[in-house]
Amino acid sequence: MTRVAIVGVAGRMGRTLVSAVEQDTGATLAGGIVEPGSSLAGADIGELAGVGKRGVKAVDSLSAIVDDFDVLIDFTAPQVTLANLAFCAEHGKRIVIGTTGMSDDELAQLDAYRGKVAMVFAPNMSVGVNLTLKLLETAAKALGDEGYDIEIIESHHRHKVDAPSGTAIKMGEVVADSLGRTLKEHGVFERVGQCGPRTDKEIGFATVRAGDIVGEHTVMFATEGERIEITHKASSRMTFAKGAVRAARWVADQENGRYDMQDVLALNE
Ligand code: NAD
Repeated sequence: MTRVAIVGVAGRMGRTLVSAVEQDTGATLAGGIVEPGSSLAGADIGELAGVGKRGVKAVDSLSAIVDDFDVLIDFTAPQVTLANLAFCAEHGKRIVIGTTGMSDDELAQLDAYRGKVAMVFAPNMSVGVNLTLKLLETAAKALGDEGYDIEIIESHHRHKVDAPSGTAIKMGEVVADSLGRTLKEHGVFERVGQCGPRTDKEIGFATVRAGDIVGEHTVMFATEGERIEITHKASSRMTFAKGAVRAARWVADQENGRYDMQDVLALNE
């Protein structure tokens, strides 16, 4: 059994992760961490998640449960995640990171740990999204340089703090890589006013923030006479949480390195 601790256990993903670990026959709930000084420290994490008392109390520091867990699952914020990554490297723990919205500098800091800890880092842990990334690679290779315009549209709930979503950026990177382009050169993240017609190779992004949308992504390949749209719609956070628990079980047996969900699902082979 993989002993899993969850950082940000009172958050939207944290609460869903409690249920996902419980439903998994290969993982046990070993701890939950809330923000330092939070009034929720000491609360039962089952009660925080709305599934009833489970006898595991939330703590406000990782040190308090250092001997209790094997793998940390972290869906919080970039600076919090980087500090937890350092903790895991120092204490021989493994980590699954779902946090999005990292800057280039924060991504470089994360990457510097690849030789010091076994981590799975993925902006989207859903099995369906990771399969979609494979489909996008195939579509981009077949269509992309034959006059198809590529646009990526994503929608999320009104509370999301980063844009475009980490998943939309990942989809853009997969498409760009397949076509020998880069998002730095060809990504267009804003169009406003007299911005002129689109260029052939640009990859455009559009963002919707509204209500309680869990997460929807469409990649459009459009040319004269036809349009192909590859869409993924998440209807519950459970899809991300189940993927994260699967990643936790998988990474428990891995050597130090930086892995993604394609590795966990063996889609890279
Ligand atoms: P949220 O705001 O509901 O939860 C974040 C939680 O982290 C909060 O409860 C907050 O109190 C806690 N937190 C902040 N600092 C902390 C600290 N120092 N120690 C312990 N806990 C701390 O947000 P959310 O909707 O759950 O999303 C969290 C992150 O996960 C975002 O970056 C989001 O984009 C990402 N996300 C990723 C996936 C994926 O599949 N990879 C899916 C959904 C969300």
